[in-house]
Amino acid sequence: MGGLIGRGILLLPAVLAAAAQDPAPVIVHARTPEGRVALLRLQFKKGLSVEGKALPRAFLAKGADLSGWVAFEALSPAGKRWALAALFPEDQWRREEVRHRIAHPDVESVWTLAALFTGHGQNYDKLMAENPELPEKLREGDTWRIPRSLLSGDLGGTGLRPDRSQPEDDLDDEARVAAYRGLLSFGEDAQGKFAAYRMRKGEALYSSVVIRFTDRVDPKGVNELAERIARRNGIADMRGIQPGQLIKIPTAYLADPFQAEGSSELAEEREIRAEVRRTVRVEAGPRLKGVRIVLDAGHGGVDPGAQANGLWESDFVYDITMRVRRLLEQETEAQVSSTIRYPGLGFKSRESIRTPSRAADILTSPPFAVDGESPSAVSVHLRWVLANDHFAAFRKAKGDAQKTLFLSFHADSLHPSARGSMIYVPGAALVPSTFALGGAKTRRVAEAKRSGRVAFTTREKLQGEARSRQFSEALLKALHKDRIPIHANRPIRNVIHRGRGKWVPAVIRYSTGATKALIEVANLTNEDDAENLRDPEFRERYAVAVVNAIRAYYRR
Ligand SMILES: [Zn+2]
Repeated sequence: MGGLIGRGILLLPAVLAAAAQDPAPVIVHARTPEGRVALLRLQFKKGLSVEGKALPRAFLAKGADLSGWVAFEALSPAGKRWALAALFPEDQWRREEVRHRIAHPDVESVWTLAALFTGHGQNYDKLMAENPELPEKLREGDTWRIPRSLLSGDLGGTGLRPDRSQPEDDLDDEARVAAYRGLLSFGEDAQGKFAAYRMRKGEALYSSVVIRFTDRVDPKGVNELAERIARRNGIADMRGIQPGQLIKIPTAYLADPFQAEGSSELAEEREIRAEVRRTVRVEAGPRLKGVRIVLDAGHGGVDPGAQANGLWESDFVYDITMRVRRLLEQETEAQVSSTIRYPGLGFKSRESIRTPSRAADILTSPPFAVDGESPSAVSVHLRWVLANDHFAAFRKAKGDAQKTLFLSFHADSLHPSARGSMIYVPGAALVPSTFALGGAKTRRVAEAKRSGRVAFTTREKLQGEARSRQFSEALLKALHKDRIPIHANRPIRNVIHRGRGKWVPAVIRYSTGATKALIEVANLTNEDDAENLRDPEFRERYAVAVVNAIRAYYRR
């Protein structure tokens, strides 16, 4: 925020007549851009006002009166910036934050600072959370940090919305992550570095801290981490956590977008976001002409996948996948293939799913039965191998490499508090530069011989994540439009973090599709989600939303 009036300011604190016990107001003479001198007055508890007659019209909000003292709130954004610069000439206005030096500790207060800089005094607790090491009683020379996320819109900040339980809900992924980040403040104490989060109304440690700010979503991981964070904060009973309570999250647990300024993780996150913005969308038209799509339904055969609430993953996601397949075939010109087929059903969808299907073939040549004869990892690997082989043939036939899409459908069993869809994209940092599939079991598969090895340049990894994120945003939009539940906290993720391991699911990690995503359609552990998945009408709606998303994605 450059270009402020920094020169020609006379700083003359003066004592005027004041109530006996109130500290004297601070009076400052400041020069307007026109060279006129205007008085600024900062009063204890009453805030800042400016002598109106010397002010240019541009410094006043619409309809404000120039006569007498003009309250700070009645100034225009330009007037506010000028007044603050004049009153606090030692403040540093940086891109990420304002560093405010306490100059008049008798008259200033955290409330006044919140009113001046964030737009409302009631934000004083947020301001304190941002400066955990500073005492509430202001001391001359203390430097208070006011991050951009707290700064009022008039002062170039992202601005605060009125308190709602989750004001970020309507934002797209990037803005939502930025909003979450804005709720954190960073610090260090005897137990090490942390990001502090102030709990809001209706929030719980599991969902609003662990699931949102770390990469843990599995029940065991979430519970363990919630307990560890509770201990770190001296909380004996997690149910007793009050709104407004400050929770310190050790930085080691934070997901990349929430790492401290200057960290390599945050730098990588920003690089990806920049890549997403740079990446020009691929145009294919509503009929998806020239688009090559490979659909994968997770698990199957001897592997039913996740199980909870009387449901099992395999048949239900197979059903959704078959519905997507049918819609694409009926309504578009996209070229569609599947990686897996249940021989008892073919590519058909079903109204009612009663028992787990026992047989499933990966459609390689020859087909590979998912019958437990080989480790299930083999079946997983053969899916990307098969998909990559389709993509290679498509490119060889002069197909546009940018118009290749791989989608893998799953349902997970997360912490029961989580519900709705979550989408995994291949985090660029966790995609290897080369990988070759080995093993006797795969050697007899023709596709493995042709397409069993992959190599990705740094550029390709970055582009892969960027395009997949763009698709995921389109999918979330389509799901949201049809009121299909979406995971409340960061529904797009680029890593699975369990125990000590961090990885990207193999089917998307090795996919050479330009765009790839693993879609967790629902959380089986959540009863409402399970109820949805049991309903054929929901599965159809879901499939329609996926096809709508694909259409939206291939339109610039
Ligand atoms: Zn799965």
